[in-house]
Amino acid sequence: SGGGDPATVGSLLATIATSLTEALRILMFADKRQWGPDEFEQIRALEEALDDAKKDFQEMAPLVHGQFYYQNDRTTISLLELRKLLEKFTFHSQNFKDWARQGGPINPIWARETGQLKQELHRAQCRAARRIFAAEQEGSRCLGAFQVHRQQKRNEAERQRRQRARSELPPWQQQHEQAVEDEAARQRGEPPQTAAAHSLCRSTSLEALVPVCNAVGRFERLGEHDAAFVCDFCDGFIVWPDLQRLPSARTPPKVVVFPPLAIANHVAPEPGEWQAHILCPYCDEYTYLDQGEDSEEDVKYAQDEKGFTSLEKFREHLEWYHTALPVPAI
Ligand SMILES: [Zn+2]
Ligand SMILES: [Zn+2]
Repeated sequence: SGGGDPATVGSLLATIATSLTEALRILMFADKRQWGPDEFEQIRALEEALDDAKKDFQEMAPLVHGQFYYQNDRTTISLLELRKLLEKFTFHSQNFKDWARQGGPINPIWARETGQLKQELHRAQCRAARRIFAAEQEGSRCLGAFQVHRQQKRNEAERQRRQRARSELPPWQQQHEQAVEDEAARQRGEPPQTAAAHSLCRSTSLEALVPVCNAVGRFERLGEHDAAFVCDFCDGFIVWPDLQRLPSARTPPKVVVFPPLAIANHVAPEPGEWQAHILCPYCDEYTYLDQGEDSEEDVKYAQDEKGFTSLEKFREHLEWYHTALPVPAI
């Protein structure tokens, strides 16, 4: 378009990597005779930041249909964020240039700053990828949720494969294997598969999704009693209020939403909001199942395409519409 800003996500990331490499090189070629643990820690922090940035770059690409799209992306807000971050990295690198000229011990605070910048860069890359993903799929899950959901589907396929393999065993052995698996499910707080006649009961182990949840975001305490999950891809918060309040004897036990269920189905917050929205995966199934002309039921289960505005609203919905469902407790 001539005269436009030629920067892309890829070019800004490359410049950030160069600034890290320069800082690293200064340390590598410095006289190490007087070095203490702080200097070596600084090298380690810079190497880790550079490695993580590369690893993220390689992992984001396949999530958004390839490196070409990610590298050449020019989403305004992504460029703005990366440019701000580049300024911080340049400023950070300058510390090492000055240090090389002046000599003396390194400032131990810098290694911590390197670690913080590494985190900021990680989240900036996650958000940049999420925006590309969102532009292609209107109104659907956040890219962080998509990864948890995809893993859930893979686990489910694997479980079905095992079940098929078992169905080829002699009956006595089938029963034995089923009993073993049901017991394991019970211990995880899930319904036994033998009772799972209803399609909604196809509960795979949500427990097995905890690692992928930790890879797309982080759990934090919020205030005195609340807990939150913060997604690296959309910065959306999913809030579990008042974890310490136990249901009294008179109130029926409250449904507790197991974190992977909410995380796998969240939608990035609307502009100006901070809480992620949550889609009801069970309603999704209903609308797919019952798209007939007799759609009374559809109306009953229909949800806003943007999902519930908070975990609490999602939880209430589960209580009202899906109480027959086995919802695992934390
Ligand atoms: Zn998200
Ligand atoms: Zn629902």
